Amino acid sequence: MNRTLIRKAGILAIIPILVFLGAFLASAEASGVLIRNGNPGGKILGSLDLQPSGMIDLASIMDLFKLRASMDLMGDRMDVVGQSGSCRLLAGSPLVLSRGLFALLSAPVRFSGAGLSVPLDFLTKGLPGLTGRFMEMDAANSILTVGNPGTGVFSGEKAEGLTRLASFIQRDQYVPEKILNPAPKGLSVVVLDPGHGGRSIGAKGSSGTTEKALVLSVAEKLRRRLEESLGIKVILTRTADYFVGLKERTAIANNNNADLFISIHANAAFRREVDGIETYYLSLGSGDARAMEYARVENEALGLKGGPEDEALLEAILWDMAQTSFISQSRDAAALIQESLVAGLKGNDRGVRQAPLAVLMGARMPAVLAEIGFISNPEQEIKLNRESYQEEVARALYNAIEQYHRGLLRGEIQGGRP
Ligand SMILES: [Zn+2]
Repeated sequence: MNRTLIRKAGILAIIPILVFLGAFLASAEASGVLIRNGNPGGKILGSLDLQPSGMIDLASIMDLFKLRASMDLMGDRMDVVGQSGSCRLLAGSPLVLSRGLFALLSAPVRFSGAGLSVPLDFLTKGLPGLTGRFMEMDAANSILTVGNPGTGVFSGEKAEGLTRLASFIQRDQYVPEKILNPAPKGLSVVVLDPGHGGRSIGAKGSSGTTEKALVLSVAEKLRRRLEESLGIKVILTRTADYFVGLKERTAIANNNNADLFISIHANAAFRREVDGIETYYLSLGSGDARAMEYARVENEALGLKGGPEDEALLEAILWDMAQTSFISQSRDAAALIQESLVAGLKGNDRGVRQAPLAVLMGARMPAVLAEIGFISNPEQEIKLNRESYQEEVARALYNAIEQYHRGLLRGEIQGGRP
C-alpha cells in the first residue's frame, strides 16, 4: 500500500471500531478477574482473562462494559469512549488521559496480537470515568466490584504534573518492529522550518534585523544547496513572511514523510555581548535550567500560550512521546549540526542542548532546532545580515546534513524510518 496515503489517512481519518456487548461469561477462570456487581447479592457480570504478563486485552474490557474506541491508523493512539466519558491511551505509554487530567498505570499500554492490552489497574483508574461507575479491586481474590451508575469519575492529576513525572515515563518498552530493523536508507525528504513569521517576529536586533526574515533567508539558501548537491526533496514550512502554527509546522513534515526536521532560529539575550551557536533536540524535563527557560520563552513566542492545563499541552506531550523513538537520531543530527556550525562560522560553542521545545514535539522523525547566532549581539547582527555570511551558515548546515545522510547510508546512524 501507498505509505503516503496511509500516513495521511492516519492523521485525517479515524476508523471507528464499534464493539458491542459480547456474551457474558458465567464464571471466572483461574487466571482471570471476576467482575461482580456491587449491589447486595453481587450478581456476576462476567470475567476478564488475565494474560501471563498480568495484562488484560482491552477489547475484552470494551465488550464487557459496552465501550467503543477509535484508533488512528498509525496504530499508536486509541480513544476509548463509554457512557460517561472518554479517555485516550497511547501504545507504549503508561498514561491515561481524560479532559486535561492524567492517570499513571502500573505498566505501559501494549500491543498484543491485533489489539491493545492494558495493565490490571486500568480497571480502577480508567474504567470509572468511562462507565460512571465506581470500581473496587480485591486483588487477593481477583474480584472487581462494580458500583452503581453515577458513582464513578476519572480521578487523575492535572496535566501540569506531567512535566514533573516525565522523567519517569519511558517509552522504550514499546518499539515498533520497523524502527528496530530498518534497511539502511539515506535522506529522501528534509523539512526546513524557518522560525516565526508574520505576527511572530522572533528576536530583533538593535539595527532592526528580525529573526523571522533572517532565518527564512538562510533556509532558502540551504534548500538550494540540498536540492542541487544532494538531490533530495526539501520542503519549507513557510516560504514568505506569514504565520504558521506549531502543529502545522510538524504536520507539514509528517504529511510529507520527512526523514529530518530542522527548525532554524536566531537567538537573543538580554546582555548584548552574549554570542554563540547552540543546537537543541527534544526532551521533556531533563533539560538544564537555562535550556528550560529558553524553551519557555521560545514556546511563548511561537504561540503556545494558555494555562498549563491546556489541552494543547496534553497533545504536545503525546506528540513528545512519539518523538521519543527518534531521540538518538535527533541527538546525532544535533551534534553534527552544532559541530559544523561552530567550525564553519568560527562561532562560540554553546553546545548541544535538550529542551522541551513545542515546535519539535509533533515531529514523527528526528528533529532538531539550530540557533545560528545571537541577533542581539551588535557585531553578530551585522554579520548575520550579510548575504555572504548567510551562505556560510547555509553551507555549514548543508555539510552537517550531508554527513548525517552519509551516516545513515553507512548504517552508522540508525535510521528511524521504514
Ligand atoms: Zn526563534
